[in-house]
Amino acid sequence: MHPILTVGSVAFDSIKTPFGEASRVVGGAATYFSVAASFFTDVRLVAVVGDDFTAEQMRVFSGRRIDLTGLQRVPGETFRWKGEYSVDFNSRETIYTHLNVFDQFRPVLPESYRSTPFVFLANIHPALQLEVLDQVHAPRFVAADTMNYWIEGTPGELRKVLGRVDALVINDEEARELSGESNLVKAARAIQRMGPALLVIKRGEHGVLVTRDRFFAVPAMPLEEVVDPTGAGDTFAGGFMGFLASAVEITDTVVARAVIAGSALASLSVEDFGLDQLLRLTSGELHDRFAAFKRLTHFDAL
Ligand code: AMP
Repeated sequence: MHPILTVGSVAFDSIKTPFGEASRVVGGAATYFSVAASFFTDVRLVAVVGDDFTAEQMRVFSGRRIDLTGLQRVPGETFRWKGEYSVDFNSRETIYTHLNVFDQFRPVLPESYRSTPFVFLANIHPALQLEVLDQVHAPRFVAADTMNYWIEGTPGELRKVLGRVDALVINDEEARELSGESNLVKAARAIQRMGPALLVIKRGEHGVLVTRDRFFAVPAMPLEEVVDPTGAGDTFAGGFMGFLASAVEITDTVVARAVIAGSALASLSVEDFGLDQLLRLTSGELHDRFAAFKRLTHFDAL
């Protein structure tokens, strides 16, 4: 079992879905990632919050395998984001993004983090992702996330990140934009040529497509009630990376199981608002959802 270092947002989220609203709840990509990955291994968090982030709110991290030595607390307001979902959940509008303390954020890794073997660079400015990578000594496995904003706005820096990662975890729309290919198979191969040997393409309610050499695909769990998809991608990444980091070797079989681990956690997360379901989740419930994925995808060949 290896520890994972992650850098990304810790946020106050406001969310509006067809099922209701949540205002100023703790969220952020690195938060979802850390809580999810901590089901499998030790997580070292690098992020920043403002002085409005209370001890009560800090409790989302407590009692878990999450090291907060690298979580900076500075004067000012915590990063805030608001998203609103369409009736069918197929699209989401960002109402606002207030960077606040994130604007001046310079990630400084504590000495105790610098030889972490697994690294996940959540969706932040690629220059910050590079700054973090520069501070880690010879990591064994590095994965990154990104978004359209960086693909369009900072393509040069993003290319440098891609040249230094083993895996990229992005959604289908981003994969098409990054590669300029509308066919996902061609898009995947084109992105692999930019650096990451392992590519994980998240397809929302259609599941996940993964490739290193061969392709492996998993559907999303058919759920009767999706309450809030916020953070599903980061939760997936946390389960996926957490599982990989807890394995002895990263074989194709381990990658496939890691995809299921990520999918299981993401499918549980979307059943309630924000982090609510993840925070009360037991390892028994996670195990049951993992088994449900096996039943969902299993068939006997002739
Ligand atoms: P997802 O649903 O996977 O897109 O992730 C949503 C989470 O990402 C929310 O908790 C937000 O706080 C966070 N988030 C949204 N926009 C940004 C951004 N530009 N940079 C960093 N984190 C963000």
